[in-house]
Amino acid sequence: MSSAPELKATLTLPQTAFPMKANLPQNEPLRLKRWASLRLYEELRKAGQGRPVYLLHDGPPYANGPIHLGHALNKGLKDFVVKSKTMAGYDTPYVPGYDCHGLPIEIKVDEKLGHKKLTMPVPAVLEACRAYAQKYVDLQTEQFERIGCFGRWQTPYKTMARSYEARTLEGFYRFLEKGFVYRGLKPVYWCIHDRTALAEAEVEYENHTSPSVYVRYRLTSDPADLAPALAGRDVSTIIWTTTPWTLPASMAVAFHPDFEYVALEANPPQMPGAPSLPQARVRDHETQPVYIVAAELAGQVADACKLGPTKELARFKGAVLDRVTFQHPFLDRTILGVLATYVTADTGTGAVHTAPSHGADDFYTGQKYGLDPTSRVDAGGHIHVDPAAWPQVNPPAFDRMKVWAANPVIVAMLEERGALLGGAQLEHSYPHCWRCHHPVIFRATEQWFISLETPIKSAQNEEKTFRQLAIEEIDKVVWDPAWGKERITNMIATRPDWCISRQRIWGVPIAVFMCEGCNQPIIDAALNRKIVDLFEREGAEAWHLPASDGLLAPGTKCGHCGGTAFRKETDILDVWFDSGVSWLAVCESDPDLSAAYKSFQSGHGPKRALEVLYLEGGDQHRGWFHSSLLTSVALRGRAPYSHVATAGWTLDEQGRAMSKSLGNGVDPVDIANRMGGEIVRLWVASVDFREDMAASENLMQRCAELYKKLRNTFRFLLGNLNGFDPARDRVAESELVPLDRYMLARTRELTEKILGWYEAFEFHRVYQAVNEFAIVDLSAFYLDALKDRMYTFALTSQARRSAQTVLWQITEALVRLVAPILTFTADEVWEQLPPVDGREASVHLARFPKPEEVFSENPAKLIEEWMTLLQIRDLVLLDLEGERQAKRIGKSLEADLEISAPGDLFDLLQRHADGLKELFNVSAVKVVRAEPRLAVQGKAVGFKHSLLSSVIEINPSPASGSKCARCWNFMPDTADYGIWQNVCGRCRLALKEMGIAPPKPETGQ
Ligand SMILES: [Zn+2]
Ligand SMILES: [Zn+2]
Ligand SMILES: [Zn+2]
Repeated sequence: MSSAPELKATLTLPQTAFPMKANLPQNEPLRLKRWASLRLYEELRKAGQGRPVYLLHDGPPYANGPIHLGHALNKGLKDFVVKSKTMAGYDTPYVPGYDCHGLPIEIKVDEKLGHKKLTMPVPAVLEACRAYAQKYVDLQTEQFERIGCFGRWQTPYKTMARSYEARTLEGFYRFLEKGFVYRGLKPVYWCIHDRTALAEAEVEYENHTSPSVYVRYRLTSDPADLAPALAGRDVSTIIWTTTPWTLPASMAVAFHPDFEYVALEANPPQMPGAPSLPQARVRDHETQPVYIVAAELAGQVADACKLGPTKELARFKGAVLDRVTFQHPFLDRTILGVLATYVTADTGTGAVHTAPSHGADDFYTGQKYGLDPTSRVDAGGHIHVDPAAWPQVNPPAFDRMKVWAANPVIVAMLEERGALLGGAQLEHSYPHCWRCHHPVIFRATEQWFISLETPIKSAQNEEKTFRQLAIEEIDKVVWDPAWGKERITNMIATRPDWCISRQRIWGVPIAVFMCEGCNQPIIDAALNRKIVDLFEREGAEAWHLPASDGLLAPGTKCGHCGGTAFRKETDILDVWFDSGVSWLAVCESDPDLSAAYKSFQSGHGPKRALEVLYLEGGDQHRGWFHSSLLTSVALRGRAPYSHVATAGWTLDEQGRAMSKSLGNGVDPVDIANRMGGEIVRLWVASVDFREDMAASENLMQRCAELYKKLRNTFRFLLGNLNGFDPARDRVAESELVPLDRYMLARTRELTEKILGWYEAFEFHRVYQAVNEFAIVDLSAFYLDALKDRMYTFALTSQARRSAQTVLWQITEALVRLVAPILTFTADEVWEQLPPVDGREASVHLARFPKPEEVFSENPAKLIEEWMTLLQIRDLVLLDLEGERQAKRIGKSLEADLEISAPGDLFDLLQRHADGLKELFNVSAVKVVRAEPRLAVQGKAVGFKHSLLSSVIEINPSPASGSKCARCWNFMPDTADYGIWQNVCGRCRLALKEMGIAPPKPETGQ
């Protein structure tokens, strides 16, 4: 028996090769290969020829480990920018970079080489550092590509590349030749563990326990000069310090000129068992010690130093203490009273022990008063006693001790000499080395500096300081979020001179010949040019080879002292200088970027014709944004960027930083391997990057769930486009079914919004809007409403083609709009779209849809009208649900509706009469005109939901027709169609149109 064809088989169900299951971890690497074989990045560059340029200059991540979530966020956001700008019609070259020099890598290599390093020539150690950095450049490149980031990954820029090193040195020479650079003795942050100077940016504040001591400094000048009441008395001042190890370097005591100081007579209680003075002398007030402290702090100090009941003998302004003299508590040294306005009255005594070699403020005060700033603490933190101040034969106990070990020894010495008036342990916030996390010290050392006060000419030829011009340039930049501007302005306004030297080897040498006689550098532009050329050919290693000695012409004489002996400087440049000149080494020098960047610098063309964007974490206001600004302002007189965007921190769901110990880290590589790079990208899009962002396994799972929904929406769209040939079947916009027109209007509206959000880097809004559109507008509404039309109508019927036209246009628009984010999936969808002439090989070569091409009219009016229809639909669904609860109907197709509405509402429903059955998904709808029940006049549109429900009346009733076996609508005209029973007239017509003849009943056996 031949089986009769099933009626069900005549339905047109969705069909597509686009699989439901994504298998991202397996399929994404295949797509990466496809892009590589298409040479997609090169194709994008070709396509970009002649378009306006948008330049995102990559901030180089440090190449010393695999990528973490912060990196993935950073590169993900940049990729959204690059792809969205490309699709918006810009040429958007993107040259990723790596920061390769510096301490962390040198330390790692040190650890690896161990003792061997001591016998290795410097170039061999540098080779090892190079290899170490390259290993992570390669790893990070692979990981960034894995999550779908486009860029010139074959040839990224590296700060350790020879040409880059040459440009860095060239940048330094420009500073040197233009007079920005000086050598000076200065206290700098110094890590005694790593034996190196640290930049401000390399210091982190952590808690540290220090001895907190009050120390007596005895006045040696005449106390009567301060106040007559003090004549003949034993007068001292009290200083408070948490770094007793700096006391051997103590040169002065600073007082605030405007503070009130008091001279207090102390009456310390007798300690039982203490070696006591004779009773008679205790009662003799004339012999009691007198202490000078700030009036505001007197009570506090008296308590801390157990001075007993005190008596104020005199009161005077700090100014009178200028140049009085004290005796150092244990050295043979006269201590000067000095004045300084940074002295505060909130802690301590108002008398500040001043060691010019161990503090920035102290150093400047010392300069004013001509105090000796020589540090007697060596690079390893050992104290060396000043022989001039210690004439004894045996050195003091603290001599050659490390500063931390010396603390208790010095405190004991103070106590022994009766100079210790009070002491405790204090836990406080203290600067630590960012790398080794050991506490750091201030230490005066010979360093190279760039002066922020260097005179510099502005573009208008006005004489400014470097600092002033840098601040003016900040003002010309768009800071996003806006608070970044104030932040970096304050930092530039208050920062000290830039210490650019480091006593390490893995970096760009400060390649300068120094006079042995006077320790001054030779500044010779022609010589410098030769050294730059050498670096270009042989890299920074060349400086460490004897061959480079020959660069100095024989017979060269020092311009300062006439000396003829020279040595090569061995310090290297601060790594922030390296990355800070990337605009010079990359943007100005790379053939792919230089023309555009130079036109940006010269400011040609209409305003903002060319943007240069820097996009990094918020900590870069003191890092890369900062050093780039300074170098560019000094060398080019302008900021290196026009737009700076900053991202917050990635935290866990409880708002805690991610750490190994908490085990709350999210590894982007692991997520890509388990769930897909697309899920990492979707997470990046889901967060508002300007705030701190939460990430966790749980949130990644949520993104994966959402991904499934988006994917299914695309699958449903593609499935319904089966058999649709746009060239042949597309229905003109004016001929579309009204519901389809409305959805097209919505798509235009969405397109406009999304293009605006890409423009403003509001990627999380794109994410939200796409989700809402896919899940609410498409899945829950439009695609659902279309099922009857799509499945049961004749394949080629105008109404079905109308729906297909709109589904196609929605898919074409949506796939482009999500491509910057859903990089892999959009390209997969792209391949399944109905073929059209001239379609690009990848969605990434396509442009964003133009709103007016999606839908030609202004969508607002149409959408407004449909808002009312959709509100009525909500009421209908509510009533149908009531009917279902009361068991009067089952599926909504088992109901007919009668809606009575007054005035404009009736007109509106009447206008849409043909579409109401589909809109409400019932078997029949009848609209009747009602008398206005409320005094509602005017337009029907814009009714509030509640108001609407009191104006219209919805009467559902069980469907009057009988159920069609094919479309399940209840129709008045069902009849047999061959062997198929109960087929409605609409279905019979559809079957005929599709050429499916009525099957004959089986005859005979
Ligand atoms: Zn350190
Ligand atoms: Zn000299
Ligand atoms: Zn039917």
